[in-house]
Amino acid sequence: MQPITIIGGGIGGLCLAIGLEQRQIPVQIYEAAPALRPVGAGILLAPNAMNLLERWGLAEAVRQRGLCLSALGGSEFGIVDAQGRSLLTGFDLKLMRERFGQELVTISRAALQQTLLAALPTDCVQLGKRLVGLQQTAESVQAEFADGSTIQNACLIGADGLRSAVREQIFPKQCLRYSGQTSHRALVQLDYRELGQPVAAEIWGQQLRFGYTPVGQDLVYWYATSLAAQGQRDASPAAARASLLAQGHDLPAIAKTLIERTSNEALLRTDISDLAHLKTWYQGRIGLLGDAAHATTPNLGQGGCQAIEDAWVLAEMLARYEQPQLAFLHYQKRRMPKAQAIVDTSWLVGSLVHLPHAWQQQLRNRVLRLVPRSLGQRQTNFIYA
Ligand code: FAD
Repeated sequence: MQPITIIGGGIGGLCLAIGLEQRQIPVQIYEAAPALRPVGAGILLAPNAMNLLERWGLAEAVRQRGLCLSALGGSEFGIVDAQGRSLLTGFDLKLMRERFGQELVTISRAALQQTLLAALPTDCVQLGKRLVGLQQTAESVQAEFADGSTIQNACLIGADGLRSAVREQIFPKQCLRYSGQTSHRALVQLDYRELGQPVAAEIWGQQLRFGYTPVGQDLVYWYATSLAAQGQRDASPAAARASLLAQGHDLPAIAKTLIERTSNEALLRTDISDLAHLKTWYQGRIGLLGDAAHATTPNLGQGGCQAIEDAWVLAEMLARYEQPQLAFLHYQKRRMPKAQAIVDTSWLVGSLVHLPHAWQQQLRNRVLRLVPRSLGQRQTNFIYA
């Protein structure tokens, strides 16, 4: 049997490879990066992703390399205003476990990547392979890489992220939508006890949304979003920290502490875009997965979790159907409605977070406080199931 080709060794590509390996289907990942370095900040893995990692036998390793907030005395990852008053039902950790069988897990991206890589044979990922061209016939797909090499196979999956080169080849007119928001993120060496209570929260300030959570005993992940023109860049990490501190002037002291303790190297900035809905996620023998198919804004913390759900379903379909087109068709039927609902809901939440006027924010906060907790919880059921 010819190996299945995956382009991109991010969360989605690695998980698809794990799913295929566990079904004894040979697979080869081609990744553009010359080395898999421990980059990136942190990530939250919700029960929908943790349940699938459990089925692959990886949940315990992920929990051990990351952490469950309840182990640190946390009861909720809540959303609060700058004065610390509850705004929206956040992630109620106990309820999550009762209802969905898993708790929210926080982990550094590097630790997650290492855990996923360790579940694969060492020769499964070829590095320094940037896809630049694709051609397909009725029987096969040929991929061309920037180093001049080519490969030919029966089936290829683009798991190459938001700016997917695979998608560009099959659907050149697809459209990224800039959200009007940029994000800063970092990991900070800090004993979680210095955070006090709550150990994790998301704070909606006037100009800055700021979230923080431990991802290890001595490692805290924080993220911040704000309105910004696309492509705008900070002159230096020091200028970025100063600007974040000014924008977050109304936030509690913990935000200031975390921003100030962030090293130059740790500070990451990413403009936030998503992908307008695609009508289909495949063409012939070429399919798309994760951000390449349905990139979402990060307001629900679900992009990576959705890529994991894709990987689970696509591995199952590729094992069931010999014809890649049939596997892609059934995978798309199962996954598209939820993935697109996440994209839409997340976009809406992003617009709500960053209302430009103070009066709009005050009105929003008042309305959100009126929403009964049970209703808020019900709204999230479709995400975590
Ligand atoms: P990626 O992780 O982007 O991986 C794509 C891979 O393809 C990369 O390794 C890249 O090097 C490679 N590649 C790219 N081009 C080529 C090419 N031409 N040839 C070969 N290889 C190529 N999600 C969550 O679930 N929880 C969170 O808490 C969360 N927080 C987030 C916070 C922010 C600020 C942002 C921006 C996103 C967040 N996400 C979160 C979303 C999550 O990061 C993405 O949805 C997820 O990484 C998508 O995985 P992927 O495998 O599809 O793509």
